[in-house]
Amino acid sequence: MTIKLFYKNTYIKEFNANICEIIEKDNTYHLQLNQTAFYPEGGGQPCDTGYIADIEVSHVYEDKGKIFHVVDSLTSKMENIKCLINWEKRFDHMQQHLGQHILSAAFQKLHDANTIGFHLSHNNVTIDIDKFLSLEDIIKVEYYANQIVFNDLAVEILYPREDELTNLPLRKQPTITDNIRVVKINDFDYSPCCGTHPNRSGEVGLIKIRKFEKYKSGIRIDFLCGNRALEDYKIKNDIINSLCSNLSVQYDEILNSTARINDNLNNLKKENKILKEQTIGFEGRNLLDNCETINDINVIRQVYRNRDFREIKQLSTFLVNTKKTIAILGLISGDKAQLILNRSEDLDNIIMKDVLKECMPLIDGKGGGSPSSAQGGGSNIDNLEAAVNLAYIQIEDICG
Ligand SMILES: [Zn+2]
Repeated sequence: MTIKLFYKNTYIKEFNANICEIIEKDNTYHLQLNQTAFYPEGGGQPCDTGYIADIEVSHVYEDKGKIFHVVDSLTSKMENIKCLINWEKRFDHMQQHLGQHILSAAFQKLHDANTIGFHLSHNNVTIDIDKFLSLEDIIKVEYYANQIVFNDLAVEILYPREDELTNLPLRKQPTITDNIRVVKINDFDYSPCCGTHPNRSGEVGLIKIRKFEKYKSGIRIDFLCGNRALEDYKIKNDIINSLCSNLSVQYDEILNSTARINDNLNNLKKENKILKEQTIGFEGRNLLDNCETINDINVIRQVYRNRDFREIKQLSTFLVNTKKTIAILGLISGDKAQLILNRSEDLDNIIMKDVLKECMPLIDGKGGGSPSSAQGGGSNIDNLEAAVNLAYIQIEDICG
């Protein structure tokens, strides 16, 4: 059994220990020490990392009362080895963990809502609540939880006997039966837990709920405590300051300002659409005025490069609004060749999808459509001109 120094004093950052056992596994060494301040993964809290001598500890876990420290090389010494835990990381876990106890207790006291899940990782802390609550309810919980932090209540660890345990007002029932450890926050909360926590609620610093979402029949609360909340505030404050500078407004004007920008953008989009339609109209009329004819049928054949596909489709549709008109339009965009065939409704003896089908092998492509309109795409851009001409020849054969 490894002596758990993190339970004797949760603030131990450095300690000396002896190596009792070494297990070699997958090119790593799993060291069991006689005593350790490294918290192993458990109870929703990630493990500590740090150093044994100068060797980095990447993972810590408990197996049948023995705590193993995973390293990728060995020290020359077996005894009285200096060990150091990553205190910044551990204190962060302690802040998030106690913050979670306080927040969960506040949800229960104000709304009789139970915590049914807890997740703590390096960038995310969440609890799952078994009840759906409104934003207003959640804001009240956040305020209440922070008053518990600001009141700087004492946090004690109890190891009650079975008869004592039944008299404690536990927020939730323990999942184990022996050596039950209860985290007591003054008279505010009693919760069985095996994690590490600071000695006073004030050390949590701040509890900030960032967002919440529906989860099963309740909600998932995303929150941050202590230094994480400070870091989050810094990031958001920097964003706000950049937005103020970009928009040349004070921070309380950002929402109005972005709403105005959106309105302007939507108006410009509408105007742009009208202008595009007008441009297509001018371009189309010009093409019709100067096009070839086969027995009084207008035939427009063109190959365009690097234009918007939707624009060419629009042009094609515009052209065939004029009776007795056929549009054979090609488009090369990057390494893609496209062929768009359209005819006016009155030319019902010409089946455009059949015309297209004959052209497709030339551009190594495929496509389809209806009797009046067809389109296809392929990879052989060098042959697109030939494909346009082949479509023209077929039309000539049908109408000539
Ligand atoms: Zn805990």
